[in-house]
Amino acid sequence: MKYSMKWDLDSLFAGGINSDQLKAKLTQIKTATAALGDLLDRWDAASDAPDYPQFKKLITQLQTIDAGLDQAGIFVTAVGSADIHNPDVAPVEAELQDLDTQIQNVSGKLKKVLVQVPDANFNAMLVDFDLKPIAFNLQEMRNEGKELLDDKTEALINRLNLDGKSAWSSHYDSLVATISVPFHDADGQPVTLSAGQADNNLLGNADPQYRAALLPAWEQAWTDKEQLFADTLNHLAGFRLTEYGAHGVTDFLQEPLKQNRLSAKTLNTIWRVVDENKQFLLDYLDRKAALLGKKHAGWQDVEAPLNLPGGQLHHFTYDEAAEFIIKHYGEFSPKMAALAQHAFENRWIEAEDRAGKAPGGWMESAPETHESRIFMTFTGSPNDVSTLAHELGHAFHSSVMADLPLLRQEYAMNVAETASTFGELIVADANVRAAKTDAEKITLLNAKMDNPLAMFLNIRARYLFETRFYQLRQQKLVTPAELNELMLNAQKEAFGHDLSTYSPHLWASKLHFYIDEPAFYNFPYVFGYLFSLGIYAKAQQAGNFENDYIALLRDTANMSTEQLAQKHLGVDLTQPDFWLAGVRLIKHDVAEFMRLTDSLVK
Ligand SMILES: [Zn+2]
Repeated sequence: MKYSMKWDLDSLFAGGINSDQLKAKLTQIKTATAALGDLLDRWDAASDAPDYPQFKKLITQLQTIDAGLDQAGIFVTAVGSADIHNPDVAPVEAELQDLDTQIQNVSGKLKKVLVQVPDANFNAMLVDFDLKPIAFNLQEMRNEGKELLDDKTEALINRLNLDGKSAWSSHYDSLVATISVPFHDADGQPVTLSAGQADNNLLGNADPQYRAALLPAWEQAWTDKEQLFADTLNHLAGFRLTEYGAHGVTDFLQEPLKQNRLSAKTLNTIWRVVDENKQFLLDYLDRKAALLGKKHAGWQDVEAPLNLPGGQLHHFTYDEAAEFIIKHYGEFSPKMAALAQHAFENRWIEAEDRAGKAPGGWMESAPETHESRIFMTFTGSPNDVSTLAHELGHAFHSSVMADLPLLRQEYAMNVAETASTFGELIVADANVRAAKTDAEKITLLNAKMDNPLAMFLNIRARYLFETRFYQLRQQKLVTPAELNELMLNAQKEAFGHDLSTYSPHLWASKLHFYIDEPAFYNFPYVFGYLFSLGIYAKAQQAGNFENDYIALLRDTANMSTEQLAQKHLGVDLTQPDFWLAGVRLIKHDVAEFMRLTDSLVK
């Protein structure tokens, strides 16, 4: 084997979770944070004017502290993901969370310090040689500073948050751990499925009858505990709304939009494009239902695999997967290929299939050493190769920004999924092209449809539900019956009343509603997916794509999303045209799927 499937964490911190190196780092961050807090308390705008030498030191120190916390954070997350039973991880995680709260307090102080700077002086700061690279970020910080309350109150809110919003979010995990679904296995033997196992089977089991029988058992398991989940959701949202209110924020979408540097107008345009262009996906679902021997697809069929005779997929070894990604990345960008190769060679990736690992995949970057780490479980399917390409896309994004000041690297969630989806698209398309039979091609196209189905229908439903839930929550506690009804209606609306079954308890079973930070963990996915499709459409035409693409990625934390698109793509995101170019790519895949399956359903 050429490439190792196990990562190297020693280059981040040698000696594991209890190492002296990590302990020393945390102590150092703590001391530096306290010192920075003191300096900020004593800082005087008038005496630091007009060149603000002291302020420059303070903002540099804050970024150094943040980089240290990120460096420690990725290491601790990595150790925990690779070994979920490691008892030493949780205490260090708690320590990191505590440090994070202290840093938030100091960062809040720094934002308020900027408010003390008179407008004319602040404008001069923005063009100052040292501060110009982070001018946009300083502007954002100053605006946030204007919303903040006094230091004591902000510190109290941050502290309460640990037992409030953040605690409700962790409590959700504890509740999910108690969910069990009594069911039977393929041979009819009784089994008890965990929430994770049941979810995997509900969406991924190859047998349509098995999935159809599992759905009511799944819904019942959440029904039995719906009051507990309703309490958790209500209090998490209630805490958030009170926090917004304390800062003068009355529109619950204002903060999520601001965090994503996105205007409401653009979001509305995206949703309009989605709503007006979903019919071809509903047609696709009808065809899929027919292939499964049904008149209408159910909720449990939307993401299901298709098992056609001769549709056996190629099995990749890890080395083959690596070579496949490097080769096809290289067709778009030699620099992307080089980064992928660097990641494989330098053991940035944990991919081994073994017990005791966390589910899912992620990429995080280590700012102090300009490295990244990728976590996933590789079993050899084409889907795993796409996942790996997705995470390497994230790593490429980080790598092209590694030399920028840390503030300039803090891109929001909506653009975070741009480079990853782009990497994934390259490899998913290469997989389809490499298919040896029509059946194999159909299977791969079906898998490729998971993304657009999720974005246009499932996440659309989640967004409709969440906005309506927050509207209601502003007035009262929302009962489980009301939550079920809101969710069912949202699903019917998003799926055009086209499904034979729905999942009204998705508000309880879907983790995303319970994430404390950021809020509204749904629309940024849709943005990122469609944005990268638009870029992918452009990449297939443009000559000097690589440099343009890197220039765009480097600016992802340096301007509003609308400005980013205008500057690097020459498009207006508030208008439908750019988004429709991406939609055409999906339509092309669906048309190919329809053509290949036409004779199979007659
Ligand atoms: Zn991602």
